[in-house]
Amino acid sequence: MKAGGTEKAIQVAAAAEDSYRPRGFLITSDKESCRECWGCVRYCPARAIRVVHGRSEVIEERCVKCGACVVECGNAAHGVRDDTPAVTALLASGRPVVAVLASEFIAAMHPMSSQEVERSLESIGFFGVESTCLGEEMVALEYERNHSRPCASLTLRSTCPVVVDWVSRFHPSLASTLSPIIPPYVAQARLVKQLYPAGTAVVYVSPCYARKDEAYDPQFEGAVDVAIDFGELEKIVRQALPRPPYASSAGVRRPALIKEISLTDGFPRRSISTRNGTDTSLVKVRGLRALDELLTAVARGETAPAVIDALNCEGCIDGPAVRPGMSVFAKRNVIAAESRMQVAARVSTRELLGHLPPVELLRSFTARPVLRLAPKPEQVDEMLREGEFATRADVLDCGACGYPTCEEHAIAIIRGDSSWDMCFPLQRRRMKATAEQLERNATTDALTGLSNRRAFDLRLAEECARVERYGGQVSLLMIDIDGFKSVNDTAGHQAGDEVLRLVGALFKTGVRETDLASRYGGDEFAIILTGTGKTAAYAVAEKMRLAVADVRLDEGGLDALRITASFGLASLGPSAKGSIELIEAADKALYQAKREGRNQVRIALG
Ligand code: GH3
Ligand code: MG
Repeated sequence: MKAGGTEKAIQVAAAAEDSYRPRGFLITSDKESCRECWGCVRYCPARAIRVVHGRSEVIEERCVKCGACVVECGNAAHGVRDDTPAVTALLASGRPVVAVLASEFIAAMHPMSSQEVERSLESIGFFGVESTCLGEEMVALEYERNHSRPCASLTLRSTCPVVVDWVSRFHPSLASTLSPIIPPYVAQARLVKQLYPAGTAVVYVSPCYARKDEAYDPQFEGAVDVAIDFGELEKIVRQALPRPPYASSAGVRRPALIKEISLTDGFPRRSISTRNGTDTSLVKVRGLRALDELLTAVARGETAPAVIDALNCEGCIDGPAVRPGMSVFAKRNVIAAESRMQVAARVSTRELLGHLPPVELLRSFTARPVLRLAPKPEQVDEMLREGEFATRADVLDCGACGYPTCEEHAIAIIRGDSSWDMCFPLQRRRMKATAEQLERNATTDALTGLSNRRAFDLRLAEECARVERYGGQVSLLMIDIDGFKSVNDTAGHQAGDEVLRLVGALFKTGVRETDLASRYGGDEFAIILTGTGKTAAYAVAEKMRLAVADVRLDEGGLDALRITASFGLASLGPSAKGSIELIEAADKALYQAKREGRNQVRIALG
């Protein structure tokens, strides 16, 4: 192809740049995979996860893209948008494509050495491979210049996209304190665009997810064409080279530039080294919760640092896309081991910076406050009552729901972001109550409230076994209402039910706590009399018989009906061994009572 043709092709490809822009929200949610553990809700520092119909989803206007939900989800229900197709398309476009790797790439691509990473990427079509080293140095120098000018107001480090997003949304009044300096990878990309042939495209490989979106900020237009994270780069390399040539790299390392001015991610080394223990002019915070606490203290006038060095992670090496399974300490060791093997370049980085073309390093920030109306206190009180907190003094503030206080959780529920399902103490209480209710239902007769047949069988077997083993006495009364069918027939089924309830109540209150009155079925009842022999049991039975005969309904015309019951009594002994024989014996005695005229107690023989 002629030179002119190549240029034209590059122009066409560059015009189609927009087609590489990823579509859709960065953090993805797969509702089918959500197992309702709510780890994402608990770990999201921005409270940007809402639970709808038992499934979690991201509240986009609150999400700062830190990736905590992705890291904490045990079932991959939260993930990150796959931007690898854009890289494939770019590599196929014919444009020279340079990979700009965040300097943590050694840990991220371990065990590949820097030269192996470079070779792998070139072999799959990258025109060149750069780290963000020079960008970091340029940015660090710019921070130094800024810090050297006396400044009355607070300056907040702005290289971490998550921190920038957090401040702009949740502390909007402090957005103007963010250092107006671009992140180092943008400086590096701009440098690459100036030094490489016209039309060169840049693929930035990020240690975190947030930069995959930040790279497309209109202020950085023309710097990065596509941004992916290290997980995606590994996927691309793996797909292109099933067996990367790991083994042959020893001793082939090229001299590398050494970062002289910058710490991780472009913050000046000197700022930290001049610090002493009592110096509060520079405060270092890691993590959004700590940052939130600090900025709240700043807003309240409790502290007034000149500079805040804030990052979401323990440096970018701790970024969520840098070997997620490896501890930050192991990753630091990998970097240290690699740098021991690397020969330092002869030329000093600081000196080199003087020969590089100028790069625009300034940017600006806009506050993007997340405004939400606060519900009225009465609404919050009512919601707390729904969660079974009678008053605000009863709240637990255990944090298991992901919200630090029950009040904040109640507010989130009012806003539709959560539900009381997320309150574990409440759910446990409700489950316990349900289990107890189910247990009661399984052992109680619904009509009379007495123990049911199942509970009776278990208890009788238990009592008989106890007497057989330890001695003692147990008697059983089987009771059947006389002519009960006619109660139903003349007064109606409802009245019949009422008779069963009244008789049941008599039996329940007429025996000792240690005895068990039960509804055996239909109009038949059974009473276990523990520690009771025949004579005493007979007395109890007679007392019950007379009490039944006294039963009167307040209304329903039952006065005319005579309610009586027949009783069969048996005691555990030589002729009734075990619960089954005891029931048979008491039953026989009951039928004898029926046969012999009803409304009487009969004792089983033996
Ligand atoms: P007997 O003196 O021989 O016992 O005569 P009886 O009429 O009482 O006859 P039996 O014990 O065989 O009849 C029991 C009746 O109890 C039959 C059934 O319709 C009625 N019944 C069973 N369960 C219930 C109930 O839950 N509610 C009401 N109202 N009636 C019931
Ligand atoms: Mg009957």
